[in-house]
Amino acid sequence: MGTISERLAIDGGTPVRTALLPYGRQTIEDADVAAVEAVLRGDWLTTGPTVAAFEEAFADFVGARFAVAVNSGTAALHAMMFALGIGPGDEVIVPAITFAATANAALYLGARPVFADVEPDTLLLDPASAAALIGAKTKLIAPVDYAGHPADHIALSALTAGAGITLAADACHALGAEFDGRRVGSIAKASAFSFHPVKPLTTAEGGMVATDDPDLAERMRWFRNHGITTDQLQRQQQGAFAYDMAVLGYNYRLSDLQCALGLAQLPRVHGWTERRRRIAALYDTAFADGALPLAPLAVRPGVRHAYHLYVVRLDLDRLTADRARIFAALRAEGIGVNVHYRPVYLHSHYRGLGYGPGLCPQAEQVYEAILSLPIFPAMTDDDAAQVVLAMGKVLGAYRR
Ligand SMILES: *Cc1c(COP(=O)(O)O)cnc(C)c1O
Repeated sequence: MGTISERLAIDGGTPVRTALLPYGRQTIEDADVAAVEAVLRGDWLTTGPTVAAFEEAFADFVGARFAVAVNSGTAALHAMMFALGIGPGDEVIVPAITFAATANAALYLGARPVFADVEPDTLLLDPASAAALIGAKTKLIAPVDYAGHPADHIALSALTAGAGITLAADACHALGAEFDGRRVGSIAKASAFSFHPVKPLTTAEGGMVATDDPDLAERMRWFRNHGITTDQLQRQQQGAFAYDMAVLGYNYRLSDLQCALGLAQLPRVHGWTERRRRIAALYDTAFADGALPLAPLAVRPGVRHAYHLYVVRLDLDRLTADRARIFAALRAEGIGVNVHYRPVYLHSHYRGLGYGPGLCPQAEQVYEAILSLPIFPAMTDDDAAQVVLAMGKVLGAYRR
C-alpha cells in the first residue's frame, strides 16, 4: 500500500502503474467488427438501410418517437438548434461548464450563447442562474447532463413552460441515464448525443438527436443532407432522380458503416452503464471517509447516473499544491486524469466576442479544483484500486 512517505513518480519515485490508464476508452468486441464487415461487403456504405435501423433501435432505447443520426455530437447540437428555429437575434442559455460545442452550435446559427452558472456540487446548470438570465430574446435553454447526471429538468421546465422557451438537452454524456423514472432522450423537446470513442456508445465519430416531434425530425433529416428533402435510398426506392434543396443544410450524414457499429453496440450499453456504476461505487466507497482532501460530485435523488465521467473536487485549502501540479503528479503515476471543462467563455474565441472572467463565479472557482478520474467499462476493479492508491499517494504528499 502507498504511504505518505513514498516518493512520488514525478519526483523520481516508482509509479503506481507503468502503462497510462486512460480516463475513458471504447469497448470493441468481435460482434462489432463482424457487423461493420458485413456492411463493408454490402451495397450501401452510406445513406442506406443501416442508418434507419440504427435510428429506430436508438429511438426505442431512449424512449423517443424519432432519432436522427448525424456525423458528430456537434452536428447533432447544430441540427437540433437549427430545427428549433434558432437564428440571429436569439439567445441560447447554456451552462458555463461544458464542452465548447454546446455554445458553438448557437454561434453557428448567428445566435448568442448566454452562460448560466453551475451548481458547485454537481456542475449542472443552476436553474436559479438561468432564471436570472431569461429575457425577451431567450429562445432556448440547453442544459448539459454533465458527467452523465441528468440536468434538473423539473426546475428548468418550470422556467420554460408557457414562456415561449424551448428546453433541449446536450445529452452527450448521458446515454443510459434516467431522471425521475424517465430515460434521457425522452425528457426534453430534443436531446443531442455523441458517439465519440470516450462516450457511452461509439461509432468512431457520430451523433444522434432524439425527439418526439415529427416536424423537428424531418427538418433535421433535411439539414444533415444539404437541406435536400429526399435521400439517396428514398430516391432509389421511388425510381426518381429529381430532388429539391429546400433549406441551406450541410453534409452531416452518418455512414452505414458507422451505424452498423452503433447498432451492434447499443444492446450492450446497459451492461456497460452498470459497470461504470460499479467503478463509481468503488471510488465513492474509497473516498467516503473524507480522509483525502477531495469530494466527489453530488448525485441528486431520483437519478440513475450514466457515469460518463467520475469527477472529484479537490479541497485546495487542505493542499499545498494546485490542480496543475496534482494533475501532473497523477499522470506521472500512470493515472490518466483529465479536466472537464474550462468555462467555455474563458476560451480565446469567446474573449474575442466580448465574454470574460467574472461571468459565472461558481464555475470559475470550481474549475480550478476539478479532476476527472478514469472510468470506462473495460476498467477492472484492480485498475480502480490503483487509481485510489495513486490518489492517496499524491494527495498525501501534498496534504497541508
Ligand atoms: C462530446 C461532446 C460534444 C461533442 O460531440 P462530438 O461528437 O465530439 O462532436 C458536445 N457536448 C458535450 C457535452 C460533449 O461531451
